[in-house]
Amino acid sequence: MFGIFKKIFGTAHDRIIKRYWRLVAEVNQWDERFVSLSDDEVRAKTVEFQERIRRGETVDDLLPEAYAVVKTACRRLCGSEVHVSGYNQRWDMVPYDVQVVGAIALHYGAIAEMQTGEGKTLTATMPLYLNALTGKPVHLVTVNDYLALRDCEWVGAIVRWLGLTTAALIGGVSIEARPGVYAADIVYGTASEFGFDYLRDNSMAHCKEEQVQRGYYFAIIDEVDSILIDEARTPLIISGPCPQSRQLYDVLKDGVAALVRRQRDICNRIAQEAKKVLEDFRLFSAQEGEEEVKLSKEQEAARREAVRKLWVVSKGLPTHRVLKRARENPDLRDELDKLEAYYHGDQNKEERTLLLAELCIIVDERSNEYELSDKGIAVWSEVGHGAASNRASPDDFIMLDLGGEYARIDDDPTLDEDEKLQAKVALREEDGMRKERAHNLRQLLRAHLLMERDVDYIVQEGKIVIIDENTGRPQPGRRFSDGLHQAIEAKEAVPIQKETQTYATITLQNFFRMYEKLAGMSGTALTEAGEFKEIYKLEALAIPTYRPCQRKDLDDLIFMTEREKYNAILAEVRKIHATGRPILIGTESVEASEKLSRIFRQNGLEHTVLNAKYNDREAEVISLAGMQGAITIATNMAGRGTDIKLGTGVAMLGGLHVIGVSRHQSRRIDRQLRGRSARLGDPGSAIFFISFEDPLMRLFSSPRINTMLKKLRPPEGEPISATILNRSIETAQKRVEGRNYMVRKHTLEYDDVMNKQRSEIYSFRNELLHTSDPIAIAEDLLITLCENSASDFLSNRGSDEGWNPEGYRQWLMTHLPVTFTPEEFDSDYMTLEQICSIATNKVLHAFRHKIHVQQLRSNLLGESEDHDAAHKEMAAEALRNIMIRAVDKLWQEHLLAMDHLRSEVSMRTVAQKDPLMEFKHEAFALFHELGRTLRAKIATDLFR
Ligand code: ADP
Repeated sequence: MFGIFKKIFGTAHDRIIKRYWRLVAEVNQWDERFVSLSDDEVRAKTVEFQERIRRGETVDDLLPEAYAVVKTACRRLCGSEVHVSGYNQRWDMVPYDVQVVGAIALHYGAIAEMQTGEGKTLTATMPLYLNALTGKPVHLVTVNDYLALRDCEWVGAIVRWLGLTTAALIGGVSIEARPGVYAADIVYGTASEFGFDYLRDNSMAHCKEEQVQRGYYFAIIDEVDSILIDEARTPLIISGPCPQSRQLYDVLKDGVAALVRRQRDICNRIAQEAKKVLEDFRLFSAQEGEEEVKLSKEQEAARREAVRKLWVVSKGLPTHRVLKRARENPDLRDELDKLEAYYHGDQNKEERTLLLAELCIIVDERSNEYELSDKGIAVWSEVGHGAASNRASPDDFIMLDLGGEYARIDDDPTLDEDEKLQAKVALREEDGMRKERAHNLRQLLRAHLLMERDVDYIVQEGKIVIIDENTGRPQPGRRFSDGLHQAIEAKEAVPIQKETQTYATITLQNFFRMYEKLAGMSGTALTEAGEFKEIYKLEALAIPTYRPCQRKDLDDLIFMTEREKYNAILAEVRKIHATGRPILIGTESVEASEKLSRIFRQNGLEHTVLNAKYNDREAEVISLAGMQGAITIATNMAGRGTDIKLGTGVAMLGGLHVIGVSRHQSRRIDRQLRGRSARLGDPGSAIFFISFEDPLMRLFSSPRINTMLKKLRPPEGEPISATILNRSIETAQKRVEGRNYMVRKHTLEYDDVMNKQRSEIYSFRNELLHTSDPIAIAEDLLITLCENSASDFLSNRGSDEGWNPEGYRQWLMTHLPVTFTPEEFDSDYMTLEQICSIATNKVLHAFRHKIHVQQLRSNLLGESEDHDAAHKEMAAEALRNIMIRAVDKLWQEHLLAMDHLRSEVSMRTVAQKDPLMEFKHEAFALFHELGRTLRAKIATDLFR
């Protein structure tokens, strides 16, 4: 029904694209008119446009003409040489009409989905030029420094030809040179460079000259999904050393390693027992399962027992190799999954607990969680003694009941008030230490049980480097948060970094929301269209391709085991390689890429590996991947953004062949990999190899598939082909994507709370930095302080408690260097306003006096009256500094408090409360408190 309507009227997207095509026609008309202009006349257009904008025309009005000017400029550049990445390149690009469509979409703030190779770099130049005409800051955000520099040199040539300036913001640019970079009309740079500069400008700069950015008008984010989705899970953080560290990773690490070793020994033993029984019955390996075996009643019971043992191993060490082998046998696999479902049920909880009692730690691979069993706690107290200062105890995992303990102290008749207070302080201290210790233990266990070397991170030059789970890129400088990074350092026995304190932090999402206009480009945006729309209000639009895509997407080949899969890949590579076609193999992890590389080496296949460990030559490796006979193994990062050009004659042979070594958790990443082949109408093909041992399949297959596999188990080495499987893989992927989306949304919901507070503090700080009259701000602040406090003490004349002039007097005298006699406030007729104004006047007087005295003092030192202005200036600068330092110090403390609050509320789910609501509520209270302490602190500092 709907389908028919859609055919007649088109979808909303079709209509938008149609409207853009009409604009393209206008652009082309202008383009024709410009043919007769001289080069100088074309260049003069830039000044003319700028003038017209000043006179009130909008960028929307100018779009057709401005785009036509870019097109004209491109044509005139043809044949000239442009210096790019160390080589001279001959310019040969004039935007195609579809690129103009994409350029229009970008200007209107869409995410343009353009397949890789469709020329996004050139496309972006049009909206960048148009928006830069306003003189406001325009940024193009790339995924790495190399591309920032390349794009700036390459397509930047057009806008430079037209008289605008460009600059590349890359890691090596010094702070001093950055204001110059940002002054350019168009700046090319990575998200983290822009983001960190923002944080530095707002939390580190001590005078306005130290700030480097000049605002956020229009940004186009290249590979937008990679930046707003993949990278969005870890926020940008500027941190510094923590004044006092309590972390105990060094002390605890040996104990935890011993505990984990014990768990491994236990699992080994259980697995061997089970294996032996099953082998005796010839029921263990896959082939054995095929013949009928008759078992007696006792034997059957023993067999069942053995399978239960295997299940126990799956809860203790989910990646145990005996278990892996067992799962190759469809019967066992099915039985294990049934047991899992059975023990998942509440009614079988007791039985489950009994069965798992042997394990120290119970791992839930699906939810990526684990828990320590009673036995684990007992073993911990026995083996957990590592360094001398460490005394392991079962108490390590039990938190104090603070409320109960406080009550006990209060009820203790032997203590006087002072002693009670001391007892409580000591208790809090003890509680803090225990929490820290328990937290360190938890993170160490997590590091051992759930974080895998060469999958989640690599060890490089004595450092733990995170690998982005989607792109496979190493992320040097970034750290797992909440102590996990230190825990992994302890596990891998590399130096453990000192605890750090956050000075400033922001998520990329919230950073990019600051731009007045935002747009994005990607080869694969439609799968995440919902998220872009919900969070950034960005519409994803599929832009038509220049030539129809010629790629052959072959059906997935699915194998029972990883072993069979790798053999099949080897055979495939040999076959294709013999024809001379280049092959690009995409893997999910560094581990897989190295395994494959080993296999190829053993088989004498020459190849190149590109992964997080060797990515210096990324762009170069990728650019050679299209040569005849090339074999390239790459993790998913696969040089995104760099083009794979086919070598001579390769198109004739069939183009690039892409092999995916597993389906990724996210469909988008798979599409990206496919998209590496068959660019701009070239021929090419892509195929994925999957095994039931791949993480995706292991975690998300269904009982239905197991039943089917039992019937369909193909002979060793043969793939299973069934359409139902293809569908269930997609379902599994969708489920994981959904879960990851929730995680990101969650992070953002928390950061939103922070974001409001951050922008308030930063704007106050900026006011301090930029004001020409800090003295006025200081005076304002003193007035507010006096007023707020007055209303605390003098809220209600009617009651004793609500009207306490003496209390106010005392408060003033303890917080500020002023004295008042009791009579000054204590009159029956004085109103709140009158009392308040007496107080403020005296405080302001004292303040002005202080500044004045300082001036006098320097005058006495022999300087003349002429210096008065200069001294006033100096006093102002000193005040500015005092206030900014106070803001920074308290804001940093606040960030720490917020961190703690966050981990605290997450434990409250147990109490049936919504942690986010709790967080918002308490964060608000904390922020309110911050405002008060900040004013009080500044007041004290001002008089110091
Ligand atoms: P994407 O970022 O979309 O993958 P690129 O911007 O890297 O694509 O461009 C892909 C290739 O297409 C580049 O080699 C570029 O030179 C070429 N190209 C793009 N647009 C044009 C054009 N209008 N005319 C000729 N070549 C083009």
